[in-house]
Amino acid sequence: MTVPRYGVAQRQFILDLRGQIDIKQHACFHVNDWRNLTPAGGKCVGLTSPKKIETDSFYVKSVASWVPHLLIPKHVPCCPHCKKNTHVDTASSRWVAFPKILYGMTSHKYLDTKLYPCRACNREFTGCHKESLALDAQVIAGCFNVCLAGKHAVDAELHSFIVNAPDSSSARVARHLQKLCSDTHFSDYQIFLHAVRAERTKSAPANKVSRFDIRQPTMLAALDEQMANATPVNRVRDGLTREMRNLKWRLQSARAALDITEDGPARNKLCFRR
Ligand SMILES: [Zn+2]
Repeated sequence: MTVPRYGVAQRQFILDLRGQIDIKQHACFHVNDWRNLTPAGGKCVGLTSPKKIETDSFYVKSVASWVPHLLIPKHVPCCPHCKKNTHVDTASSRWVAFPKILYGMTSHKYLDTKLYPCRACNREFTGCHKESLALDAQVIAGCFNVCLAGKHAVDAELHSFIVNAPDSSSARVARHLQKLCSDTHFSDYQIFLHAVRAERTKSAPANKVSRFDIRQPTMLAALDEQMANATPVNRVRDGLTREMRNLKWRLQSARAALDITEDGPARNKLCFRR
């Protein structure tokens, strides 16, 4: 079984979006930009919101949902196999197994699309099929500004940034992009700290076992168990060990403060003569 390359919260966001588009159809795009469908909550909301922010939402990326028959009036995508759109059944289209990763200037998104069946050749094709897009070029020009590679895609902004920097070496362009990306993450991190300080965050319930192996407890669950198993005698012993360690540090600190040089008394320090 193929495993998606994203976490649980991202998966849920993609599923929720698909559900909304399936229900509202065209209307879903009347108020939303298909290229940037952002998750509700997380860093996108003000800290005055009465609802606490789920910490998982900070890593959820936006989605670009390319559903051409819902975005362009009366448009039916062309089948890349028979080069016609007369037998393409948009009503029976279904979502692809996993969206492609769509790289942008400072982060990535997910390029989601649908599979369209063609009743003439009994085959399916994705909304992002290069040949299908080429056949529809006149209709979709300007609407679909994404550069497609095999497993990934690059958005128009990043593409323009790279190709319009002819005087820079590719290593230099890559370094510049890395800096842009780290600046963005740093500001996100600061927003997160503001949210923590304002007590507006809510952690997802902690799992007691690993997602990948249910026989393996998580680190926190293992520590909790260790704490629960600690006997009163062990707790006293741990307390004494901690106290001894603190006394040792204080002794070291006092020794360091002793000034044994000739001019020690002049500096008004605790002083012992040899
Ligand atoms: Zn066909």
